[in-house]
Amino acid sequence: MIVITILGTGGAVPTPRRWLPSVLVEDRKGRRILLDAGEGAQYRLIEIGVSPASLDLIAITHFHGDHVFGLPGLFSTMKMGSRKRDLALVGPPGIEEVAEGLARYVGAEFAVRAHVGEFREGDLEVRCVEAVHTSRSCSYVLRWDLGPGRLNPGRARELGVPVTLLRELKSGRPVDVGGRVILPEDVLEPRADRYLTLVYSGDTAPNERLLGLGKVDILIHEATFADDVARQDAHREGHSTVLDVVDMVERLRPKVAVLVHFSSRYRDLERYARHVEGRNIVVPEDLDQIVYLVDWKGRVWAYDRPNILATSSGASWRTLLSASSGSTLLITPLDTSALRVLLRWEKSLAVSLSSPSTSSVHGSRGLTSTSAEWTSGGG
Ligand SMILES: [Zn+2]
Ligand SMILES: [Zn+2]
Repeated sequence: MIVITILGTGGAVPTPRRWLPSVLVEDRKGRRILLDAGEGAQYRLIEIGVSPASLDLIAITHFHGDHVFGLPGLFSTMKMGSRKRDLALVGPPGIEEVAEGLARYVGAEFAVRAHVGEFREGDLEVRCVEAVHTSRSCSYVLRWDLGPGRLNPGRARELGVPVTLLRELKSGRPVDVGGRVILPEDVLEPRADRYLTLVYSGDTAPNERLLGLGKVDILIHEATFADDVARQDAHREGHSTVLDVVDMVERLRPKVAVLVHFSSRYRDLERYARHVEGRNIVVPEDLDQIVYLVDWKGRVWAYDRPNILATSSGASWRTLLSASSGSTLLITPLDTSALRVLLRWEKSLAVSLSSPSTSSVHGSRGLTSTSAEWTSGGG
C-alpha cells in the first residue's frame, strides 16, 4: 500500500491556496519519503499529523528554490526533535554540498547521507532519470519489490513440506524434503505483479526517457501550464502542459496519474480538469491524498479528501476503507469478488457498476473512472 499526500500543488511561486512542490509518499513498510521540499513543507507535514523528524528519505529533483527551500526548516526541526538516526538525502550532483552545508548550519546531531541520483534499501530502489529542464534535474523512479508470491498452504501440505521449511520457500529459496527438492514456485502462488513503480517527474518538458522505463503504476507529473500556453513555449521553459501529460499518460499507461506544479496564474484548475475527464488522471488540491492498494490479483486505488488518512499508513485495508467513509473511492480493476469484499467492509459508499468492465464508486468528490484499460496492464 502506498499513501501519497500532495503537500503543495503550486510551482515557482506560492499562492495562499497552492504551496510549493512537495509530495509525501508513505509505503507499506511505513517508510516516509519526501519528494522535493518546497518552502513550508514542514508546516504541511505537521498539518497532516506527520512529524518532520519521522522522514526517512528526502529526494530533491533539482536546486531551483521552489523545490529545496523547505530543507533548512525541516533539518532544523529534526535537530530540535533530537533526531539521532541518519537521514538519506537523494539529489543530482551537488547534493553532497547541500547535505553537508545544511547539517553544519543547523548543528545536526544526525548524519545526513547524500546519495547522488540513486538510493537502495531493502525492497526499495530510488533512481534518477535525467529530466528536460533549464537546470540539471532528476525525475525519480521509485520501485518496490513486493517479493515472491503468497504461500499456498494446501499445496505445501500435499508435497509434505514441514512447517519449519516454509519460511525458506517464502524467501525464494529451494528446500530439501526427504531427498526431494521443492522449489519456491511449487508452493507459492505468483503475484499478479511483483514490482510497484512510482515516477515523480519533477520539473520537466515531456521526457522520452520516461517511456523507456517499462511498466509504471503511479505517475506524478508536473503540468505547470494548462491549455492556454503553447506547448513549445512551455517546453522552452523546461515545463509541460496538461496536454503533454495527457499524451504521456496515453503512452506510458500508468494505473493512475497525478498532476502537480500548477503555475500561480491559475486561480482554479478548470483548464486542467476539462482535459482529464474520464481519464485516470487526478488534478489535486493541496493536501489531497491518493491511496494505492495492491492486492494479489490486481490493483485498487482510492482518492481521498485531505487529512482523513493522514495517520493510516500501515493500517489494514479494513481500517483504511472505513476511514475513507463518505469520500470518493475508485476501485480497479474490476475483480468483482474483491470488490464485493471491499464493499462489505465499507457499506456507506454508494456503488454503481455501469458495465461489466467498468466500476466506479461515487462519493463526495464525484470522481469517476473506468477500469477497462487498466485491467490489461495489471499483469
Ligand atoms: Zn519548479
Ligand atoms: Zn525548476
